[in-house]
Amino acid sequence: MQYQETRDKSAELLRTVIGFMGQHDAAFNPTTYSVWYEYAAGLNARLNQALDQLKLTEPRLGDASIQRLYREHIAGVDDKTMDRISRDFQQVMNNVVDSVQRTGDQAGAFGAGLHDLNTALQQTDNPAALHDHLQLALQRSQAMQDSAAALKAQVDASRAEIQRLRADLDRAREEVFVDSLTRVLNRKGLDHRLEQLLRQPLTAHPSHGLVMVDIDHFKRINDEHGHLVGDQVLAGMGELLRKVVNDPAHLVARYGGEEFAIVLPHAGLEATAAVAERVRATAKAMKLRKRNTQDVVLSVTVSAGAAALQHGESANDWIARADAALYRSKASGRDRVSLAA
Ligand code: GH3
Ligand code: MG
Ligand code: MG
Repeated sequence: MQYQETRDKSAELLRTVIGFMGQHDAAFNPTTYSVWYEYAAGLNARLNQALDQLKLTEPRLGDASIQRLYREHIAGVDDKTMDRISRDFQQVMNNVVDSVQRTGDQAGAFGAGLHDLNTALQQTDNPAALHDHLQLALQRSQAMQDSAAALKAQVDASRAEIQRLRADLDRAREEVFVDSLTRVLNRKGLDHRLEQLLRQPLTAHPSHGLVMVDIDHFKRINDEHGHLVGDQVLAGMGELLRKVVNDPAHLVARYGGEEFAIVLPHAGLEATAAVAERVRATAKAMKLRKRNTQDVVLSVTVSAGAAALQHGESANDWIARADAALYRSKASGRDRVSLAA
């Protein structure tokens, strides 16, 4: 992110940011500063939306939440990975340049040798001297061949290395879109993929299906068993969703906190509701056990809302309708699936 604010404007933001930082619990470090700076400056609408949402359940934002906001809405490919990849690229290029240089030098010497031989052929009729010239020309020709072979080997090796680096870079780019705790898409990844999906014209019927899933009474799990167990439940939920929704064309994302989104391209409301029901039933059967005794420590239920994309609808409106259905599931007793009108 390039910050363009003037010194005066950024001084004003500094005061606002310090005010925000004082009202919340996260440490006073550059990550926290960037989050509140972008928030105060209104540079990043999705960040502001996510932060406002988070404040409703966590009025004093702590380190974990601030770091998540930073990761999901501000950070790009992490700098260390970028540095390593560009250093490796540089090294590969240097090796190729060295080999080309060496082969170029050999070719120069080879050309000069041919020129000498030509002069000698015109000027001398001494067979012994001619033999020496030919011998030298042969040696140079051999050196030239060796050098060309070395260059080819170097270029082949570099090509393989560049392919490996490109795969590394692709992986690093993908990683920006993945939630590290649950290993499903993060909010940024979901936004990106939804934008791609909704950009395509909706010609075929049915349209697309969306399920919003929220863990019931998750706050209690944190309160009774601690945040670490809460995290384990979230990781387990990510694994469960990846198993239940295992078609590569379908998307699973952590929408925020303990809420997940499932996107089913070209699925009607009925098929979408069936997936939601499968998730609900599988989640209910999931048990977290103590490692040594196998005693059940806790189990969870989820509530879900399903909505089919309507013609001309925006991603936000679509999500809001699925969320409203989810809310109805909560209001009518939880552990159930409701369909959007
Ligand atoms: P409901 O059934 O109405 O959804 O109740 P709930 O308790 O699940 O919902 P609420 O929104 O009140 O609380 C959600 C909690 O999830 C609050 C927040 O601290 C917690 N949470 C959000 N993200 C994380 C996380 O990454 N790890 C852990 N352990 N807790 C989180
Ligand atoms: Mg919940
Ligand atoms: Mg929630």
